[in-house]
Amino acid sequence: MPRDDTYPIPARSDNATSFDALVIGAGFSGLYQLLCLRDRLGLSVRLLEAGDGVGGTWYWNRYPGARCDSESHSYAYYFSDELLQEWTWSERYPEQPEILRYLNYVTDRFDLRRDIGFGARVSEARYDEAANRWHVTTESGERYDAKFLITAVGCLSSANIPNIPGLDGFRGAWYHTGQWPHDGVDFTGTRVGMIGTGSTGIQAAPVIAETAAHLTVFQRTANYSIPARNAPLSDEFKRWMKENAAELRGIMQSTPNGHPFRIEDRSAHEVTQEERQAIYEAAWEKGGLQFRAAFRDLLVDKEANDTAAEFIKEKIREVEGQGHRRETGRYRPSVRHQAAADRHLVFRDVQPRQRHLGRCARDADRMHHPGRNPDARRRRAQARHHRFCDRLRRDDRAAAADEHPRKGRAALA
Ligand SMILES: Cc1cc2nc3c(=O)[nH]c(=O)nc-3n(C[C@H](O)[C@H](O)[C@H](O)COP(=O)(O)OP(=O)(O)OC[C@H]3O[C@@H](n4cnc5c(N)ncnc54)[C@H](O)[C@@H]3O)c2cc1C
Repeated sequence: MPRDDTYPIPARSDNATSFDALVIGAGFSGLYQLLCLRDRLGLSVRLLEAGDGVGGTWYWNRYPGARCDSESHSYAYYFSDELLQEWTWSERYPEQPEILRYLNYVTDRFDLRRDIGFGARVSEARYDEAANRWHVTTESGERYDAKFLITAVGCLSSANIPNIPGLDGFRGAWYHTGQWPHDGVDFTGTRVGMIGTGSTGIQAAPVIAETAAHLTVFQRTANYSIPARNAPLSDEFKRWMKENAAELRGIMQSTPNGHPFRIEDRSAHEVTQEERQAIYEAAWEKGGLQFRAAFRDLLVDKEANDTAAEFIKEKIREVEGQGHRRETGRYRPSVRHQAAADRHLVFRDVQPRQRHLGRCARDADRMHHPGRNPDARRRRAQARHHRFCDRLRRDDRAAAADEHPRKGRAALA
């Protein structure tokens, strides 16, 4: 949004609609803001949302395998005891459709929809200091003014489309996980390249691989992950969640991580190597984010963190060994990616020549299936491929120089 102080503040005569408060974004945060401002403070409120429905993150991120990695009994509103009793989650980590259903349920349960304007992307917000009011304009030219402006626009709602040379001319289909088509994508029998192995890539890869003829995963920097151990919730656990909602709320509000478990009050340095190994093994078996709460200093002490990183690396080596023995009958330490049981993906360093992106994948494809005029096509494709990879290697070297201080540490979230 422009920050030029000389920009003229629109006069009130510009047909702006006035409210006490405006909220931008209909995700978890914006919906709750609307409810609090309207129903608790009695203000007149309008919520403006770019999408055509509520849900925010969960409205846009519909890629295969999308689910949260906080546990369901914590990834929910706790402001209403009735709501906590009414809603029942089905899995330890709910999938995107279930979370979207939940947010639609909350919207209707608290009659929020009537105060939301959908398809309203805010393009401008200016504060008139003299009048003590915000002037807000949407892309379609609607104007609003209000005393209070709450920007609940999320931390991940702006899709980052990478600047890949040749993307415009790419003849295949391409998608961004944060702007996934609402009617889904059928990958059956297709060759798919996936760029990125953060938490989204880790979720999407095994599901895409189920139907695609071939999946190539491209990664620049390896991430380590803990098995999620996702499973349907038992009736006993569902009952326990509801009966202990007040206590769970208390834990989440009093721990620095906001999760429904406490961080252990012990240092990774206080215990023997054998005790530490046993603690990590138990946390690994349990799965999920609680792993990082096994010791109080894992996220603040490099040497403590190294003990966790080393444990995880050892687990990855075990998976690599199994995977490669399965595939090739012998162990090779340099592995591009491995899908382990229970949908847990482990990614390791990629060989430089594997770090090519969409265009190269297509060219590499042509090298194997050159069609007519094979020699000339192959030579041209190879030359393009090498030019492109050289450029990426230069980018990688620059990125590696930036990232060097973080290298070798475990990213546990
Ligand atoms: C796959 C995935 C898994 C995640 N898992 C977890 C998890 O397990 N635990 C956790 O804590 N967090 C998780 N997150 C983070 C998640 O983003 C937050 O938990 C939460 O949903 C953010 O809610 P929000 O309301 O702040 O923002 P959002 O849900 O991002 O909502 C922001 C809304 O603002 C709208 N908006 C933005 N700009 C404008 C504009 N200019 N005009 C109008 N509207 C606009 C967007 O369209 C969007 O609907 C996950 C995110 C993803 C993508």
